[in-house]
Amino acid sequence: MTERISWSGDRVYEALKKSVGYSEDEYVVLVARKISDNPFLLLVSIILSQNTNDKNSIKALKRFVKMVGTSCAEVMKAPRNVIEEAIRPAGLYKQKADTIIRLAHVICKVGEGFLMKAPIEEVRRLLRSVKGIGNKTIDVFLSVARKAPVFAVDTHAMRIAKRWGLVGDRASYEEVSKALLRFFGEDKAEEAHRLLISLGRRYCTARKPRCRECPLRKACPYARRLLQSQSRKE
Ligand code: SF4
Repeated sequence: MTERISWSGDRVYEALKKSVGYSEDEYVVLVARKISDNPFLLLVSIILSQNTNDKNSIKALKRFVKMVGTSCAEVMKAPRNVIEEAIRPAGLYKQKADTIIRLAHVICKVGEGFLMKAPIEEVRRLLRSVKGIGNKTIDVFLSVARKAPVFAVDTHAMRIAKRWGLVGDRASYEEVSKALLRFFGEDKAEEAHRLLISLGRRYCTARKPRCRECPLRKACPYARRLLQSQSRKE
C-alpha cells in the first residue's frame, strides 16, 4: 500500500502558507480579477495560461485588455488578427484565439451573468461544450469565481498528490481532484491550489525536487524514500 503524507491537510496548509506563500501578481487569474470583475475575462485568463507560465500569460492578458477589451461583446467585434496579435505572448495563440472566440459566441448568447448566477453544474455543462476548454480550466474558474467545492489540478498538483501518496501513480484527473479536495477541505481548496503551484515551482519540481530544503520533508513519504536512498549511497 502507498505510504501517505503523515501530516493532516490543515497542518500542510499552514506550513505552506508560512513558508511558500505567493504574491497576487504571480498568478494570471488574480491579475484578471484585479483588472475586472467580468467572469468572461477570468475565463480568458485561464485559457491564456494553458501550456505556458504565468509571466507569459499575464503579458498576453494585459495586451488583450488593451487591444480587445474585457467582455464577450468586445471579442465578437474585434478582428481575429487583433485578438491573435494581442495574445501572442501566451504561445499557441491561433488555437487560443479560436477557443476565446468560440467561448465569446456561447457566453454572449446566455449573457455573462449566467456564469455567476446559474447552478454550478449548468455552468460546467455549458463550458464543457466549448472546444478547447477542459476540466482544469473549468475547475479553476468555478473555484475562483464561484468558490465552488472543487480542486483544480494542474501539473504541479498532479505530481505532488502522487508524491504525497494521496493517489496512485496512474490516478486520473478526477481521482486526484477528489483526493486533494478531501485532504485540504472545501474551504481551503482554492488557496491550496495556488500554494501547490508555488511548492511545485520552488521545491517540488518535476526533476530533482529540493527535498532537503522543503518545508514538508519531515512528513513527505517521497522525501523519506529519496533521502534514505541517498544516504545509503553516501
Ligand atoms: S519533500 Fe520533496 S517530494 Fe515532498 S513535497 Fe517537498 S519537494 Fe516534494
